[in-house]
Amino acid sequence: MRIGILGGTFDPPHWGHLLLAEFVRDEIELDKVYLVPALLPPHKTDRVITDAQRRLKMVKLLCGDDDFIVPSDADLTHNRKPSFTIDLLDELAQKFPEDTFHLVIGGDSVIEFTTWRRWKEILGKYDVVALPRPGRNFSTADKKVLEKIRIFKSPLIEISSTEIRRRVKMEKSIRFMTTKAVVEFIESEGLYK
Ligand code: ATP
Repeated sequence: MRIGILGGTFDPPHWGHLLLAEFVRDEIELDKVYLVPALLPPHKTDRVITDAQRRLKMVKLLCGDDDFIVPSDADLTHNRKPSFTIDLLDELAQKFPEDTFHLVIGGDSVIEFTTWRRWKEILGKYDVVALPRPGRNFSTADKKVLEKIRIFKSPLIEISSTEIRRRVKMEKSIRFMTTKAVVEFIESEGLYK
């Protein structure tokens, strides 16, 4: 099978993640896209991150019973801290040799790609596919990265987890920024207050 891997913090997950996954799936004909919450995201150590189990729970709620966009705990079942994408991809490729793995990333990740652990190895070994993210342009992205990554154009939305957290803190509505089930989970768990 052709599998897309969309890793992230998902704190919380939102429509932007689903659209990114779905448009890339459609563009490159993937059988499934796994949404993979990172155990401890290497780039995000400047704030308290919601525990991995609750982030996974929210990803499950986001995906519901969709046939194509599915939650994965692949990054939560090992003891590597922090978790690096290359390790995850290698592990999956080894475990499932009959599948091909395609890394799906958003525009901001294209710009930061050279900060990722063993990024050249990722580009050498895996197909990396991206969609632009509103408000971020690629002019500062590394040339080698731009040569290798396939970037498709799609109308995405300017929703971020940061904006959702900010709005919860300010006691503003987050309805329709993510799915109803995720909104209800955030409320019932009292997250981001
Ligand atoms: P934060 O605001 O906390 O940085 P985020 O909204 O960027 O979070 P992540 O979980 O860090 O969410 O994102 C995982 C991946 O999804 C990244 O590759 C990111 O570029 C991509 N992504 C997130 N939101 C969008 C969006 N609205 N449009 C396109 N790509 C997105």
